[in-house]
Amino acid sequence: MEKNPYPESYEEASSHLRVALALLSKHRIPPSPLNFRTGYEVVTGENKALKSAFEKLLMCGYTLDDKLLWDLYRKFFVQDDEAIELMRQELRRIITGIQGEVGHSSGKVAVYADALDRFADFLDSSPTSDVMHSEVQRVLGDTRSMERSQRELESQMSGVLEEVDQLRRELEQVREESLTDALTGIANRKAFDIALERLLRDNQEKEVVFSLLLADIDHFKQFNDTFGHLVGDKVLRFVGATLKSCVDGKDVAARYGGEEFAIILPQLDGTGACRVAERIRKATSSGNLKSSETGESYGRLTISIGVSQYRPGDLQTDLIKRADEALYRAKAKGRDRIEQLL
Ligand code: GH3
Ligand code: MG
Ligand code: MG
Repeated sequence: MEKNPYPESYEEASSHLRVALALLSKHRIPPSPLNFRTGYEVVTGENKALKSAFEKLLMCGYTLDDKLLWDLYRKFFVQDDEAIELMRQELRRIITGIQGEVGHSSGKVAVYADALDRFADFLDSSPTSDVMHSEVQRVLGDTRSMERSQRELESQMSGVLEEVDQLRRELEQVREESLTDALTGIANRKAFDIALERLLRDNQEKEVVFSLLLADIDHFKQFNDTFGHLVGDKVLRFVGATLKSCVDGKDVAARYGGEEFAIILPQLDGTGACRVAERIRKATSSGNLKSSETGESYGRLTISIGVSQYRPGDLQTDLIKRADEALYRAKAKGRDRIEQLL
């Protein structure tokens, strides 16, 4: 873990603790460390993805009980670790296998080398043709047996290579999944945090230009209330795809949480970033969303976007805070618009 995920003060943490315990006790959920941790995270709301999954489950009619908390716990806290632990064990098993095979094979090589040494000595001893014949037969036999075991080792090795390659692919998939938002298929909050942190770390003290967009769907709650949650989900997927199509490969478009999206635009200043934001705004409001079954139109969907430009010395939070403030202004000024705080 790179940093302390719970930086709250004594007072803050105590207050979260009281609310989390009250939540658990209200639903008669045992305050085990596991239930408590999940409840605490829900209460602080810091982990937006977890909080929104929690709200969504309740909205879909799930009962708040320890099974629900266990599912969330597994999804948000242990899934990757477990998969990686399994792979670690699998690799350990493969390596132990290779060590055994190689050890066995080098034992055979040593025996064969001895046999060749003996044969060389024998040749130096001016042998008669009779003994010569039988010795040659023997060394031939040894050589064939050596060749066989080398071939066996080779085929075992190529099996091992395949197994290791399979594991590598699985590991990549786990990594990919842990950085992807399951609903929209674009990067998730974690991937966004990693990308922004890397960009800031790699460019400390440098004269670097890049910008950040924070986008939030307008009146999305109303949309959900009118057409239902499943349609809401469809809209989120539409916005995810729209963002992806409006940015370059080097840009990072991520679902920041709920109906908020964040986009990192390397090499773009505020003006360039506003151009991209405008492209996104237009593409969103001109997308004619309708039901695939009835053809019923869902009306006009709009999005508001806040833009901030990197200032040397900025921390991650500074850049996000300015974009968030700009987004707030865009909402206050009537939505479906872009505001920048450079
Ligand atoms: P504003 O224009 O001020 O942003 O209004 P809003 O209604 O978009 O904002 P508000 O924060 O009041 O509501 C956000 C809604 O987003 C509430 C929640 O139900 C919905 N939401 C969050 N995550 C999901 C999701 O994964 N699926 C669906 N369908 N809805 C979600
Ligand atoms: Mg919002
Ligand atoms: Mg909104």
